[in-house]
Amino acid sequence: MRTSRRLNVRAAPLVALFASVSVASDLDCLHCRLESWAWRQHVGDRSGHFDEATGRDRRNYPPHRWADHGRMTLELFIQDMDVPVAQATQTLTITPIAEPLEELRLDARLLDIRSVSVNGFPARFTNDGRHLRVALAPPLPPDVPATIVTTYVINDPPDGLFWTPSSPAWPGRPPQIHTQGQPETNSYWFPCHDFPNERLETEIIATVPAGFLVSSNGRLLSQRRSVRRVTDASGASSLRGYDTFHWLQDKPHVNYLVSLVVGKFDVVDVGRPGLPMPVYVPPGRGPDVRGTYGRTAEMTALFERLFDEPYPWDRYAQLVVWNFGAGGMENTAATTMFDTAIISPEALIDHDLEGLISHELAHQWFGDLITCNSWDHIWLNEGFATYLTALWFEHSRGRDAYDASVLGGFDAVIARDNAVAPLQPAMVSREYTEPWDVFRRAANPYPKGASVLHMLRRKLGDGAFFRAVGLYVDRYKGRTAETDDFRKILEEVSGESLERFFHQWCYRPGVPRLRVRTTWNSSAAELRVDVEQMQNIDERNPAFVFDLPVLIRVRNEGDWRRLHVDGRSATLSIPLAAEPDMVAIDPNLEVLASIDVDAPSGWLVEQALRGPTHASRVLAVRSLGTLDTDAPGTTALHAIASDRARHRDLRSEAVRALAARRAPDAARRVVSLDPDDPYVRETVLAAVADCASGDAPPLGRDAVADRLAHAALHDASSRVRAAAVRGLARMNAVDRLPVLLAALEIESQHDTVRQAALGALADLDQPDAISHSVRFTRVGTLSRTRAVAIGVVGRLGKHDPDIALNAILPLLEDREMRARNAAGEALVTLGDARAVERLEALAATARDPAIADRFRRWADRLRDNPATD
Ligand SMILES: [Zn+2]
Repeated sequence: MRTSRRLNVRAAPLVALFASVSVASDLDCLHCRLESWAWRQHVGDRSGHFDEATGRDRRNYPPHRWADHGRMTLELFIQDMDVPVAQATQTLTITPIAEPLEELRLDARLLDIRSVSVNGFPARFTNDGRHLRVALAPPLPPDVPATIVTTYVINDPPDGLFWTPSSPAWPGRPPQIHTQGQPETNSYWFPCHDFPNERLETEIIATVPAGFLVSSNGRLLSQRRSVRRVTDASGASSLRGYDTFHWLQDKPHVNYLVSLVVGKFDVVDVGRPGLPMPVYVPPGRGPDVRGTYGRTAEMTALFERLFDEPYPWDRYAQLVVWNFGAGGMENTAATTMFDTAIISPEALIDHDLEGLISHELAHQWFGDLITCNSWDHIWLNEGFATYLTALWFEHSRGRDAYDASVLGGFDAVIARDNAVAPLQPAMVSREYTEPWDVFRRAANPYPKGASVLHMLRRKLGDGAFFRAVGLYVDRYKGRTAETDDFRKILEEVSGESLERFFHQWCYRPGVPRLRVRTTWNSSAAELRVDVEQMQNIDERNPAFVFDLPVLIRVRNEGDWRRLHVDGRSATLSIPLAAEPDMVAIDPNLEVLASIDVDAPSGWLVEQALRGPTHASRVLAVRSLGTLDTDAPGTTALHAIASDRARHRDLRSEAVRALAARRAPDAARRVVSLDPDDPYVRETVLAAVADCASGDAPPLGRDAVADRLAHAALHDASSRVRAAAVRGLARMNAVDRLPVLLAALEIESQHDTVRQAALGALADLDQPDAISHSVRFTRVGTLSRTRAVAIGVVGRLGKHDPDIALNAILPLLEDREMRARNAAGEALVTLGDARAVERLEALAATARDPAIADRFRRWADRLRDNPATD
């Protein structure tokens, strides 16, 4: 049967966004960022780069570098790991550039500056809680190094340096300290030029209570034990043992990459001779390190070979820390990882972190050895790191895994990068309110940056592409770079002019939205391919220019054509000896575009089963999911879904496509699936729940609810359990509440099952689920789970505002940033105006303007839309 329908094969729904980016690994970093992005949505990325009232340009430009920073030596004394105070002495060498320097201005947020001396002489200084200004009298002459010594106290900063003290609610968990400097938060614990256009050597000499480990950038020069007499808060003085760790990073790097971690860990080295790669994990988890991080050395060797540049630093440490606000942070030679970034043996069946591990490792070259000169060029960090994950998958799992990773990036961009100039900024744009915005913008540097690199590789060919990237590394190592620096090297190596390419994919927002119609005219024996650009086209957003590859297969013979598109529409007409059995549009993903294909279903079935690439097979499967119930399509989808030899992503797509048909036959085929691969089984349970939900469900509810309830409590895979729990909520299976409450008690990797159960309780909107959720909002629960639980209390609070308010209000001052953010959002969701007063009081007393702003915004949003009833 021939049918033809408009279908959009390249626009995965947002929910799949995370899944598609890197199905195979638990890519937490994106989720966290988006989580906190949700809060900042109200701030938004639309800084509006022009101030109407003053006529001012509000775009962001790098700060001046009046002096070159040579080396920072930071001596820290942490008397008590449970008391968030540290004494510090910073010695900074600077060399004024060009002119005598009369004042040195450093970023210094909320530091208690005690003294400053210049070349050994006391200096006058001001400290407004945001900048340290040192008067240089006499002015420091240019080109002559000078030494600035600053003594100060770090007092429990709200950002940058985080204390996770021991707590009775978490018996046995030793206290810990970690830092997070990106984008501009290391100035919360040391004065610096807190912007990426300054590189310097750094040296950390940290003295901490005996028995704690200290990790920092570079190499460890020494570690020694000492005894000190100290006086505690009660005035009691005692002799205590301390350890002093002396770290040196003598290859210049940027300030946001400076790292300090203090804690108790199992440390296991996964490195190679001459390059130690210690992994720091919570005590008792050492035996799990190799299962999670065991391929780090292999990844390193791959990247060294691909870019012909040896790993640049003294060691490569990976540190799993509590209460970490992201997924991973690529500090120089010492990556910080989120708190559950260590996979238990039983969870290795359905969890791995290779996506995240290879991403952060890639940054050691792209981000650390070469750093973007300013935040608008952040894709040079994040795009490369995301793309190198795809290269690792290509190397370690094959071409299909590479395609799956690239396609995931395409999906993410197509789903979000859907506005045009000037409505939203481009990937490379100085328009942002605060630096974090550039990491979260719709033209997102992670997936869009990686997609641009993939397109360049396809465009220039492997030889020229990898040679150019190698030359870029060689020329810019130890320096900062901008987008055009990279472009020029690509042009130099390939001879191809790339200004238009970079303009349309990096300097303007949006992507082409194509409608492609493929038709066979049997009387004229002619194939027609008509392409239309459907996005808004105007002077600021002209039609995209690209060559669209088309693979035509006739009697098993493949014939490649390229259709040049540079306007609203273009057509390709080809006389053929016989009707094709498949016409695949852009099977190698050479054009980052959303593509609606109108094609005979028979061609799609052929492409789904025997398309030339993983990407082309997935795209055909998606299209079949939007077609009415043609038997060949259903049969093909079922065959793909049950075929263990096929890539798990393709099988999952086939399951979703079957479910999307909402036809009894297709649904019966879905319910018959019980794949052994937990990733596919997870998709099957979600699809089965879909088929038993909504109006006129093709599947009977009870049987499905039984299956889901059993899987939620007994499946070996926590992914599958979580999917079963979400499925019960999807079906609104209120009668299965006991299963959800039981799922709350299940320990699983990343607390996946508990978080799913919390979300399901909120979706089922059960009043008596509040008390169950409140329990998980407190210290003693993983910080991510706390954030989920707090959100749930906010959603269910309408049933008992008092309980909700009493549970949430105190969390506005919680030690964990994630809990504080979730509490503010939950109050807005709850909509109880009684919280406004507390928020305003906190805004009035907050030390940090950024924190005060946050409280004020929550109060404004709450005031603007209080709960109606
Ligand atoms: Zn990154």
